[in-house]
Amino acid sequence: MNSPQRRPILELPDELISQIAAGEVVERPASVVRELVDNALDAGATQITVRLAAGGVRLIAVEDDGMGIVPAELPIALKRHATSKIANLAELEAVGTMGFRGEALAAIHSIADCALLSRTPGEANAYLLEGRTGELRPAARAQGTTVEVRELFYSTPARRKFLKTDATELAHCVEAVRRHALARPDVGFAIWHEGKLIEQWRIAPLLQRLTDVLGAEFAAGAVPLDLQHGQLHVHGYAGVPDVARSRADQQYAYVNGRFVRDKVISHAVRSAYDDVLHGQRQPVFALYLDMDPTRVDVNVHPTKIEVRFRDSREVHHAVLHAVENALAQPRSGANPSATQSAAPDAASTSGARPAPAMPRWNQTAMPLVSAPTAVPWPQQLQTLWGRAESNPAAVQVNEPTPTPASAPLPSPEPNDATPWPLGRALAQLHGVYILAQNAQGLVVVDMHAAHERIVYERLKQQWEAGIAAGQRSSIASQALLIAAPFAATEQEVACAESQADALQQLGLDISVLSPKTLAVRAVPTALALGDAVDLARSVLADLAQDDASRMVQRAHLDILATMACHGAVRANRQLTLPEMNALLRQMEATERSDQCNHGRPTWRQVSMQELDTLFMRGK
Ligand code: ADP
Ligand code: MG
Repeated sequence: MNSPQRRPILELPDELISQIAAGEVVERPASVVRELVDNALDAGATQITVRLAAGGVRLIAVEDDGMGIVPAELPIALKRHATSKIANLAELEAVGTMGFRGEALAAIHSIADCALLSRTPGEANAYLLEGRTGELRPAARAQGTTVEVRELFYSTPARRKFLKTDATELAHCVEAVRRHALARPDVGFAIWHEGKLIEQWRIAPLLQRLTDVLGAEFAAGAVPLDLQHGQLHVHGYAGVPDVARSRADQQYAYVNGRFVRDKVISHAVRSAYDDVLHGQRQPVFALYLDMDPTRVDVNVHPTKIEVRFRDSREVHHAVLHAVENALAQPRSGANPSATQSAAPDAASTSGARPAPAMPRWNQTAMPLVSAPTAVPWPQQLQTLWGRAESNPAAVQVNEPTPTPASAPLPSPEPNDATPWPLGRALAQLHGVYILAQNAQGLVVVDMHAAHERIVYERLKQQWEAGIAAGQRSSIASQALLIAAPFAATEQEVACAESQADALQQLGLDISVLSPKTLAVRAVPTALALGDAVDLARSVLADLAQDDASRMVQRAHLDILATMACHGAVRANRQLTLPEMNALLRQMEATERSDQCNHGRPTWRQVSMQELDTLFMRGK
């Protein structure tokens, strides 16, 4: 990308001009900045400097160290439909450069006072072309090009009036450069305003560039994504829900290096966050799609900010899965030395002191959870989550999927030296939080929130496995020893009758005893310890809102979430240490376990360093 071939600047033939999306490209100073930086990148620049005065209205100068323009072509560069980037229709369809319309310099020249100063590697000196007079003369400059644009809209005061304050126009100009900078970490950028350096981004690896441009918070909360889908490559970083923002101001999507606003991509990203980000919060991301240029039409809009994919379903699928996969990885399980911040280097450099000795499961004081295989299921539940509170003991009659939601993970071997990412449980705090110790320090877990996510993910897994296997009953269910009758409203009775199939699919068996009485006969195994009647009532209420057809789409997720909330361990339930440890191990193995079903965090790391600061140790 850095050493493009020099080609002559030629005027496009009429039949090609007619194929190019027509329209005005210069709306405000930032449009000029965008076009000029596009040109510098197309020229193979490795360093681009943007100088502005009065928010770009008085002056925009873009300097690059690219291949330059030969003097004879300087006047041609300012002509309409003159470009070195395409020469025929085939090249238009497979265009790999930022520009191809040959109109930007001409458009800018028509509304402002332009000068081009350029030197190619073959020339002994540079040449300066004064746009207003057309005068061309030798000048001094190193290899590369400077385009200077003064007094934007000087001849069209009506348009100048539409500009906002200098500060606003400046912000737009900086954003225009930022968009380029995020796509090209291999190019250095600097922005000056009124003689002051206001931004400087040096050549760096992508994650460092993201940090420099978008801030440490973005980078610390971003997880890498990388997915190859046939010819299509999706990579980049997506922010964990913790760093979501109230505005959609850190959402960057690129197609073959070009910043785009695209509905297919936005929708796919939003869907990927569906299950971990709730309400109006806006995810942050920098996503890069690389694909065969003939599979995307960039000639849809004069500013090239919109594109059209030949196969938008494929793009949607790839983006959705790339982001979803990246977000699903529990950060606790990803990297034993990671704190909740996902930036691996940020985490490992925090804390100068040596890590404390790693707690081990083989410490004799730690009772181990009894081996799950040796214990029958209902008893195992009792071991893990205490006694059933309101349900009669349940027996298992129907379990299509082998992993019930609250099943413990296999107990660690007595000599297991694995440093558990979420550490070893120490205590329970006010019946709400679990406190644990890991290598970095203290881990605090919201036990209800964490367990709710674990149950929800298991229910989803069972649901999907059931659907894939074509089973009518997807969710593992177990019959109650004694059915639980309850007084029901007419609507509840009607819903239980009409939605019997949906209920069965959800692992619930609710029968009608009389026009005003229902009885719960079976509940999902995962939820066997919750209140069966409460569960039945909320699921009926959810179902009454939906028609059965919506069940096959996303409505089942809402219902599964309702169910998970019922099945999750409540606040004020006393847990034993083995129960707490089992929960921590389940979190490490469960997708999306860093957020509860409502998008809030389930755990936080408090490092030794933070604790030391709190106590002013070593000061
Ligand atoms: P386009 O980029 O669509 O070709 P422009 O009007 O932006 O049209 O530029 C016209 C031509 O001028 C380009 O095709 C390119 O050959 C040349 N040019 C513009 N800016 C630069 C630059 N910074 N370095 C080298 N060549 C440039
Ligand atoms: Mg251009």
